[in-house]
Amino acid sequence: MTAAEAAPRIGFVSLGCPKALVDSERILTRLRAEGYAVTGSYADANLVVVNTCGFIDDAVHESLDAIGEALARNGRVIVTGCLGAQPEQIRSRHPAVLKITGPQAYEEVMAAVHEQLAPPHDPFLDLVPAQGIRLTPRHYAWLKIAEGCDHRCTFCIIPALRGPLHSRPVGEVMQEAERLVQAGVKELLVIAQDTSAYGRDLRHATGFWGGRPLRARCTELARALGSLGVWVRLHYVYPYPQVDEIIPLMAAGRLLPYLDVPFQHGSPRILRLMKRPARAGDTLARIRAWRAICPELTLRSTFIVGFPGESADDFARLLDWLQEAELDRVGCFRYSPVAGAAANALPDPVPAAVQDERYERFMELAAALSARRLAARIGSRTRVLIDRVDAGIALARSPAEAPEVDGVVRIRAPGSLRAGDLAEVEITGTDAYDLDARLVPAANQV
Ligand code: SF4
Repeated sequence: MTAAEAAPRIGFVSLGCPKALVDSERILTRLRAEGYAVTGSYADANLVVVNTCGFIDDAVHESLDAIGEALARNGRVIVTGCLGAQPEQIRSRHPAVLKITGPQAYEEVMAAVHEQLAPPHDPFLDLVPAQGIRLTPRHYAWLKIAEGCDHRCTFCIIPALRGPLHSRPVGEVMQEAERLVQAGVKELLVIAQDTSAYGRDLRHATGFWGGRPLRARCTELARALGSLGVWVRLHYVYPYPQVDEIIPLMAAGRLLPYLDVPFQHGSPRILRLMKRPARAGDTLARIRAWRAICPELTLRSTFIVGFPGESADDFARLLDWLQEAELDRVGCFRYSPVAGAAANALPDPVPAAVQDERYERFMELAAALSARRLAARIGSRTRVLIDRVDAGIALARSPAEAPEVDGVVRIRAPGSLRAGDLAEVEITGTDAYDLDARLVPAANQV
């Protein structure tokens, strides 16, 4: 019997957002480092860890179903993640789970695994790649720079689940980024609950990277990441004035000209009811200023329609705002109450039929804006990163498309291109969300 066959085997189910995925990667890295084997089969596993999401009701149901499936098909289940912060909800439906821990509870998860399934002797630590175990393809990786959140948006329970803002030391973040780049990562996706708040809890203390001082602050971190020679994409940035400092780095090619800003609404009254961060400024003026500095900037955002108290006038303001902002990529959710959220106590809930109607109207406008912005790209040239090649078509992304949330660039006849390659293409066509492109022959590239 080989060491790998003898190793205790853990099944792992990872649900939720990229931040939860990073937690999963950390736990998997620890498991592998201690010599456990990770298996994709319930039947083959000695124990299953389920990393849950508890953000909205749908996610809660999905997590509870996943726990139920793991119990039915394996029987020995440890639960962690956001829903783990509400253990009574899990226990009432699944009393047989062995242990429940909350989010980012790496030590507790490992202790629970040790309790149930002793680690093998003399683990081969060098079986674990230096960059850790990643669940994303080899060529891109999420880089989580902070945990928790200091805001109190009324529809959200993340601060209650994950605690206040806790930024990672800047040197540690940079070392992880360097390891990822050395391992072949071509694109770093920077995430936190509020990326722009990075380092506020540390009072932006100066750390060290490569022997040089570096402040724990979003602009300085972004500049340092931009020196690593790979694509760097910022997610979950709020429209604070200091974000203006980051846009010139995009114009200079140090960062991808892409910002994911969760605006959530366009009516100041609703933003106040939501208690959204950075809601006081004139966001349309800020967007105009950003585009003046970096015309190729792509803006992605998400919105909530049908928030309690949203009047017809508020909704009309949202549509006007969207029309004027001309965002490139937009996602939208109908408001749904989350157990424990302050917004549940707000008066004037919007009836479901009105929410549906507003959602349809919002998405119709968003699709038209997206189609118009994409059509303007026909004939232009861009660099793309190949995500995969299937049946003679390469699916790629340009700086304007983030993985998993935005559209893709389809390239027919991709030649010898493989996942992780960079190429230059000319955009030849679009539909509402995706683009078609052809390769630019090397001789014609600039
Ligand atoms: S910024 Fe608001 S929505 Fe985002 S995690 Fe913090 S409280 Fe929740």
